[in-house]
Amino acid sequence: LEPLYSFMIRVRVPGGIATPQQWQVIDDLATKYGMPTLKLTTRQAFELHNIYKHNLKQTIKEINASLLNSIAACGDVNRNVMNTVNPHTSAVHDAVQEVTRRVSDHLTPKTTAYYKIWVNEDQVVGPDEEAPVEEPIYGKTYLPRKFKITFAIPPYNDTDVYAHDVGLIAIEDNGQLLGFNVTIGGGMGMTFGDESTYPRIGNVIGFIPTENVPDVCEKLVTIQRDYGNRENRKNSRFKYTIDRVGLDFVKEELHRRLGYELEPAKPFVFTTNGDSYGWIQGVNGRWYNTLYIEGGRVKDTERFQLRKGLRAIADMLEGGDFRLTGNQNVVIGNVSEEQKPLVQQLLDEYGLTAHQEVSSLHQHSIACVALNLCPLANSEAERYLPSLIDKIHVLMDNHGIGEQPITIRMTGCPNGCGRPYLGEIGFVGRAPGKYNLYLGASFNGDRMNVLYREALNEEEILETLDPILGQYAKERNPDEHFGDYLVRKELIRHNYSSSDFHHN
Ligand code: SF4
Repeated sequence: LEPLYSFMIRVRVPGGIATPQQWQVIDDLATKYGMPTLKLTTRQAFELHNIYKHNLKQTIKEINASLLNSIAACGDVNRNVMNTVNPHTSAVHDAVQEVTRRVSDHLTPKTTAYYKIWVNEDQVVGPDEEAPVEEPIYGKTYLPRKFKITFAIPPYNDTDVYAHDVGLIAIEDNGQLLGFNVTIGGGMGMTFGDESTYPRIGNVIGFIPTENVPDVCEKLVTIQRDYGNRENRKNSRFKYTIDRVGLDFVKEELHRRLGYELEPAKPFVFTTNGDSYGWIQGVNGRWYNTLYIEGGRVKDTERFQLRKGLRAIADMLEGGDFRLTGNQNVVIGNVSEEQKPLVQQLLDEYGLTAHQEVSSLHQHSIACVALNLCPLANSEAERYLPSLIDKIHVLMDNHGIGEQPITIRMTGCPNGCGRPYLGEIGFVGRAPGKYNLYLGASFNGDRMNVLYREALNEEEILETLDPILGQYAKERNPDEHFGDYLVRKELIRHNYSSSDFHHN
């Protein structure tokens, strides 16, 4: 007898926008084949957990029929392409979303194997004369490692543009999209005890007009394909390639492959990497309600029926959509004036409105899956962080700063799926109940934190944070964020150079 293997399926949602029908399909699949919950990831994907091996094929077939898929949601290829989801932010959102889709399509592997294996029962894997002999971009060997691209629309950095191999920062002028600044070399993962691995934030290398974006992304992918480390997977991400061959070399190689040079980067300002909650009217006159989803886990509890409520909205929503944010939340989007009260009624009825009554610490938190679902986890994250935040909030209340937003991120291991090194307070699991504490990232996601204490249990975490929060409450400047305060007062050493991450 074979063991009862179970799997996680990650479903790509380019730019994070899914239709109500797609939400219904994913929700149905969770009921039929997996855990009765949906996980909204930090990269705008759905995850279905606990799919038994004998249900894999049918699950993927049904995902495919909904016009979503899991192609390149994992593997050494370009992953789900992200984008800021809140259209109220800018009149150029639709245009940026269109480029997001173009980049996603352009870099999706062309192999037909996925469909042969998972979708069409009549075919088996084998030579197919119609299939490309070689991937036009990935070649025979694909990439040394996964590759991640995101778009962001200032002043919102809700997709953490600096944490990705390639970032595209939209530059607009009076509601017109001029093009994008390009960042390269971001990435969050590292391995404990191996200083050749480190998190890194991307470098801004220039500006490109909109029509050049797919070409520039392709050429950057091919540089990583050709120069990436294929001998040691721990050092194979694009960030290590850049530090090994040099940023200038990568830029020159990019210009050579493009046949033209990037223009100098244009000015932009990010104010936050968090989400803006509640109903907001978009520049298109439609309504958008960003809902806090604790740990990105859409589930029903006795108090809050998040899953049933969102499903009820998906069942009635006409012309609207569901937008997954880079902070694991969801936006009920594109809602008409007529449907807005109906959506609100369902939010009230199923407890989603009450679920929003959390501290700004909760609202600015991210937790990865970790134990008990991720085999790489050293510790809890998603199931533990909310209760730890409650306790940190008590400390802050005692110091009179209970309403101050501070970004808090926790992961169960140093791989960094929850981008913990960009939290003003970051926790990375060392062992069950023990976390490394990182402090001092910026509130807008353009500066990483640094290691402050190692392997703390909960009591030690609270004892460590309490006096620092007290000092912050007394000594902060008006509107000064926690991470900026720590840097200004030199309570931490700011890692200006990413390759110095381990030596601060
Ligand atoms: Fe990612 Fe590590 Fe969290 Fe697993 S435990 S989801 S690998 S960060």
